[in-house]
Parts: sequence; structure tokens; C-alpha cells
Amino acid sequence: MQTPKKIAIVGSGLVGSLLAIYLKKAGHVVHIYDRSPDIRKIQFSGRSINLAMSNRGWKALDGVGVGDAVREIAIPMDKRAIHLVNSLKFQNYGQEGESIYSISRGTLNRKMIDLAEQAGAEFFFEHKVWDVTLATATLHIGETERGEWEERKYNMVFGADGAFSRIRHRMQRQSMFNYSQEFLNIGYKELNIPANVDGSHKLDKNSFHIWPRGEYMLIALPNLDGSFTCTLFMPFEGENSFDSLVDRKEVEAFFEKNFPDSIEVIPDLAEDFFKNPTSTLVTMKCFPWTYTDKVALIGDACHAIVPFYGQGMNAGFEDITVLYEMILKYGEDWEAIFSEYQKSRKPNADAIAELSYRNFMEMSSKTADDKFLMQKKIEKWFSRKHPDKWVPLYSRVTFSDRPYVEALAIGDFQNAIMEEVLKMDNIDAIWDSPEVENKILELLQC
Ligand SMILES: Cc1cc2nc3c(=O)[nH]c(=O)nc-3n(C[C@H](O)[C@H](O)[C@H](O)COP(=O)(O)OP(=O)(O)OC[C@H]3O[C@@H](n4cnc5c(N)ncnc54)[C@H](O)[C@@H]3O)c2cc1C
Repeated sequence: MQTPKKIAIVGSGLVGSLLAIYLKKAGHVVHIYDRSPDIRKIQFSGRSINLAMSNRGWKALDGVGVGDAVREIAIPMDKRAIHLVNSLKFQNYGQEGESIYSISRGTLNRKMIDLAEQAGAEFFFEHKVWDVTLATATLHIGETERGEWEERKYNMVFGADGAFSRIRHRMQRQSMFNYSQEFLNIGYKELNIPANVDGSHKLDKNSFHIWPRGEYMLIALPNLDGSFTCTLFMPFEGENSFDSLVDRKEVEAFFEKNFPDSIEVIPDLAEDFFKNPTSTLVTMKCFPWTYTDKVALIGDACHAIVPFYGQGMNAGFEDITVLYEMILKYGEDWEAIFSEYQKSRKPNADAIAELSYRNFMEMSSKTADDKFLMQKKIEKWFSRKHPDKWVPLYSRVTFSDRPYVEALAIGDFQNAIMEEVLKMDNIDAIWDSPEVENKILELLQC
């Protein structure tokens, strides 16, 4: 327990509400502000973006004793179901017993707010924070940007207010504050696969479904009510793009040609396609993340990444794990806590941003490529034989809590080795032979 401070968190999203639980555990008074109404009180279909929770997320939840409450609303996915145009293939994610977990972002957010409230945090919904005075940790709250603002002073403020953070906005106006923002030319749109009449799932429930088609792809993650949330990722412009699909006939023809086995399971395809918005994807980087011992950014507010590694929330939750480690290490010295927190997290946030960006190619193209599938098969076989010598990149990111920086560097090294291995004569036939094993062992020495 620390000496109690009065702390404000801006943003009651996933990261803000989990942070509140940790700060309550450390003995503080915690107020959380959100511009939106209480998500628990609004009509909610139970469908929304689905997130894949993995090791880093679970570690942060278990670290404060709320993992089991979240497991109740999660569905394990132990494999990719790869829908090629004429066939369906399965590829296990990790070793036996390893899964990622599908969770509805809305359902999870409701649960996290409940848990934070039970821990004693106080929520202020429909409170827009427009600005912060950094030196005094004072929030400026009001209905409109130009209207009257109320001031609320704290000992400390956390900006957990997402990719377009107002708290960061204020920090950006200082000298020596670095900031970059890059939009992808790929957008996304959600579609829905409803449940069967008996409530069962229309596709394999324990798979992450993916229709890889190069420049674009469709994915589907299971929901508890038997439905799947699908996401179509596609360029905004060009031949196969959101711009090119302008009417019902075109959308149906596009799906029939490119995702033929999805047609019968998405009954409201055209309605959903034109009703649901097309959203953008952004990578945002910045530094520093903290201001003296008064203000700190956390989660998407300081590192928004594209979603192709399923790590945005996981990385935000890991920020909290690391912040708490620093609290345990530095006790009352908040300046040291903040300084070491940002020093530890920034390179890792950059590494997962890079891995996420690259993973679009892996998901949308390589999963349909026989050479890539062979590479994965060899890696899995070799890592089972030599678990101390080879942890595949995906496993290091998803099923371990080793730093993302390390995953990126070792992943590049492993890739170079696999390029050599795949050049071996007759590799399709000898992929699990002593010859291949020895070759990898030899290259690992280099
Ligand atoms: C399509 C897609 C798929 C994804 N898939 C995955 C996945 O599989 N796995 C994964 O780990 N991550 C995934 N992510 C990323 C994940 O959704 C985010 O990283 C995570 O939601 C970030 O949480 P946060 O609490 O930092 O920010 P947010 O969830 O953005 O929450 C910010 C909160 O702050 C509030 N707020 C904002 N401004 C103000 C203000 N001025 N005043 C008061 N309140 C304010 C907002 O209302 C909101 O409640 C995905 C993202 C997308 C877009």
C-alpha cells in the first residue's frame, strides 16, 4: 500500500477501468471520467468489435484477481480456420492447450467497470475532459469546448482516453514532445453471422476464422450468443476496395466470388454492409508519456496500433502490469515510477506497432501460401523437439510475456534461418528429417 493519493483517470475504457482496480489495490482514491454515458445502461446488442485476449492480458487481469470473472465471458480459440476459395484448412496457434480468447469489447468493458466499481473506484460518466493543467494535475471538464469548464484538482492524472487523447493533446504542446500518426489505406467494416435457431454456432466455435485474399481479408470471431462478429479489412480505394462496392448487387457478387462459403452464413450481408460504417486504422506513437510525477498516459492514448496481431488491449494491460511493478519497486517515489515505466514500455510499444503492421501481410496473404504453412509446420515441429532453442514468433508475442522488443529481434533472426531451410532440396518431403533439424541447429549457432 502506498500513501493514499487522489487520482483521476480519464477514460473508462478497458485500460482505464483495469488501472482503477490496481490503483485502488495500492490504496488510492480513484475517480474515473468518461465523456460517454455508462455503457452498462445503454441498449447493447452484445455484438461489437471482438478482441483476442492472450497471455499479457490474462497476466494483468490475474495480477489483481479478476481473471476468472473475465474467463466467464471468453471463448477459447486454439486454431486458425483458414477459408481458401475452395477448401478449409486448420492451423493450431500454439502447442497443445494454448489458445487465444474471443471476447466482445462491449461485454468486457461492462464487466471491467463493474469490477472497478466493486473495488471502490468512483465513475463520472458524461463528463468530457477538454484539457489538463499538467503542473497541478487539474482537469477541465465541461459540456462543450467553448462553454464553461469546471476545474477538478488531483494529485495525479492518468490519460487512458484512447487514440485521440485530450490529455496527450495538452502534452503535445510542450517542446521536445515527439508525435506521429499514420493512417493505413486499409479500412474495416463489421458484419454479422447470426446463431443457428438452437443458439449454436454456424462455424467452428473454437477457431479464429480467416478468409485470406491478399490485399483484403475477412475474419470472424465467436460470440457467447452463438453469433460471430466478422470484420472485412479492405483498401479504401482501388480495384477491390470499399469504394468499388457501391450497390447491393456488387457486394453480393464480390462475396460470392471471393468468400463463397460465407454467403450462406451472413444472411443480411448487403444490409449490414451499407448500414455499418467503414472505419479507419491508425498507428500513433509519441514520447514522453509522463509529466513529472503528475500526469501519465497509458494504453491507446500513448500507443495506438493496427489490430493485426490482436495486441492493442493486451499491450495496454501490460502497461499496467509494468506500472505496478514500478510501484512495488519505487514505493512513494512517483517521479521514478513514471520515469521507469515509460522507459520500459516505449521500446516495446514501438516493437508491437511494427509487428502488428507486418502481420497484415501474414494474415491476408501468407496464410494462403503453402510455403508459409510449411515454414510454420517446421517451426512447430522443431520447437517441440527443442523448446529451449526455438519459440516461434507468434507464440513469443501471444503466449509469453517476454518483451515485444525481444520478439521482434528474435523473430527476424528466425525468419532468416527459415529462409535458408526452405531452400533445401526436396524440403516438402524431408521437412521433419534429422537433416533439417541439424541445419537449423547449425544456423542457430551463427
Ligand atoms: C478492429 C479492431 C480490432 C481490435 N482487436 C484487438 C484484439 O484482438 N486484441 C487486442 O488486444 N486489441 C485489439 N484492438 C485494440 C483495442 O481495442 C484497444 O487497444 C483498446 O480498446 C484500447 O483501450 P483503451 O482503454 O486504451 O482506449 P479506448 O478503448 O479507446 O477507451 C478510451 C475511453 O476514453 C474515453 N474518452 C476519450 N476522450 C475522452 C475525453 N476527452 N474525456 C473523457 N473521456 C474520454 C472514451 O469514451 C473511452 O471510453 C482492436 C482494435 C480495433 C479497432
